[in-house]
Amino acid sequence: MSNSTDMLIIGAGFSGLTMALEARKRGISDITILEKAGDIGGTWRENTYPGVACDIPSHLYSMATHLNPHWSRAYAGGAEIQAYLQNVARTEGLYKLCRFHQALRSARWDGAQWQVETMDGQRWSARFLVSAIGALHLPRRPDIPGACDFAGPSFHSAEWDHNTALQDKRVAVIGTGASAVQFVPEIAKTAQQVTIFQRSAPYVLPRPDGPIAPWVRQLYHHLPILPRIRRHLIYMLYEFRHGVFRGEPRAVAFAMKMWQRTMDQAISDPALKQALTPDYAIGCKRILSSNDWYPALARHNVRVVPHGVALIDPHHITATDGTRAEADILIWGTGFHVTDMVERLSITGAEGLTLRQAWADGMEANLGTAIAGFPNFFMLLGPHTGLGHNSVVLMIEAQVGHIGRVLTAMQQKGLRSVEADTAKQAEFTREMQDRHANSIWQAGGCTSWYQDAQGRNTTLWPGTVSEFRKRMAQSGLEQYHTVTEKGGESR
Ligand SMILES: Cc1cc2nc3c(=O)[nH]c(=O)nc-3n(C[C@H](O)[C@H](O)[C@H](O)COP(=O)(O)OP(=O)(O)OC[C@H]3O[C@@H](n4cnc5c(N)ncnc54)[C@H](O)[C@@H]3O)c2cc1C
Repeated sequence: MSNSTDMLIIGAGFSGLTMALEARKRGISDITILEKAGDIGGTWRENTYPGVACDIPSHLYSMATHLNPHWSRAYAGGAEIQAYLQNVARTEGLYKLCRFHQALRSARWDGAQWQVETMDGQRWSARFLVSAIGALHLPRRPDIPGACDFAGPSFHSAEWDHNTALQDKRVAVIGTGASAVQFVPEIAKTAQQVTIFQRSAPYVLPRPDGPIAPWVRQLYHHLPILPRIRRHLIYMLYEFRHGVFRGEPRAVAFAMKMWQRTMDQAISDPALKQALTPDYAIGCKRILSSNDWYPALARHNVRVVPHGVALIDPHHITATDGTRAEADILIWGTGFHVTDMVERLSITGAEGLTLRQAWADGMEANLGTAIAGFPNFFMLLGPHTGLGHNSVVLMIEAQVGHIGRVLTAMQQKGLRSVEADTAKQAEFTREMQDRHANSIWQAGGCTSWYQDAQGRNTTLWPGTVSEFRKRMAQSGLEQYHTVTEKGGESR
């Protein structure tokens, strides 16, 4: 038997919850959120590794509609962010919309509605389908010969094994991305030895972190305008960071000076400094932020092997240059599947067109949100909505606001369905590729998870958040091919 709902949202992280709030505001009363796990939270439910925290200040990395005056520090830890999301879901009654342990298996447009099946065989029909599955939740482990033979505990940073004690153990870490930069300083405090295999050095800049005094929190609680002002100031400050990605000489010089000073203050060994110096332009890969990373690497029990891993055997990790390290525990800080997520989405739109077919030449979606051939389907944090310089929550909010306005316009005009206009989608995709062609991400001398198998950057929005917000605010039904309740079509 099929359950029916007006809007089916897949995923209960920041995106899914924000979408549910907006849809309800727009008069959609029957909303269901399918979540494959047992709780809301997404990223912040999954990532529990030591040191997990946001790298955008919490007053900005939170919903504009639900500011939190009580953040305990400038960059809150993962558990506090998860508690914040749970609190929003509880106070807004979103838990009762959620169906937990229900992973999407497939979705098919039948000409009038979406017919959805979950992994455990439940069936749903819905007028609107929203993908809020996130971009960073499928742990990626590179295929390294011998990985299965490793004798000790071995886990990914997003699947942290809290039952494995690291005390007095020799720990090998593969990868030096955003998660490793957070957990290595923590595990180095207890492990006997930490050996880090670094294929490519990151630029790591300091951040103004620290506790927020209780009296300040009280003030924020009683004068809600203050956290709003703080949020706005952080937003504008972070917009300036975009200058680094545009290659503005002063912004680049400032960032390089900060990075050099941060490393020099912590590291004195010239060989280690050389190993930690990236061989690409700043901004090409994600710029990381930590006050503890370089000091941790200077510790007597931490060793950096500046090469990728070639081979794993039961007790050793061997780098591509032949360096070999004994290890009792192996931790993968190797990121997530991002550009290949289509492999895991079985979605069939109008006339039997599958998402895999539609994206055979790479991911594309008009405004990163709607896909030609997929009626009444919206995607949050779709192609070209990622950021390197600011809070992605702002992008989610801009997308959700746009979808909300489209839903209202549909009601007003008596429309049955909307789908991205093919020509507009092609134009948007061309614009994105043109703007990316000579960007720092493409021409900065690196490869990164922003790029797909063909080397195109299909992940990032190339401009500022302000530009994206304006663009989304000004875009409406003209971006869509529409069908009226009576079946009349317009483009
Ligand atoms: C460690 C870490 C730190 C980060 N820090 C920051 C930061 O400081 N600032 C920033 O802007 N961004 C940060 N990010 C990016 C972060 O992912 C986003 O900010 C945000 O959490 C995305 O929310 P989301 O709801 O789109 O996705 P997610 O949080 O990934 O939520 C997606 C949800 O969908 C569910 N789901 C997926 N597939 C299915 C399916 N088939 N069926 C049913 N449910 C499904 C998942 O279980 C999950 O609950 C960080 C990411 C990580 C991994």
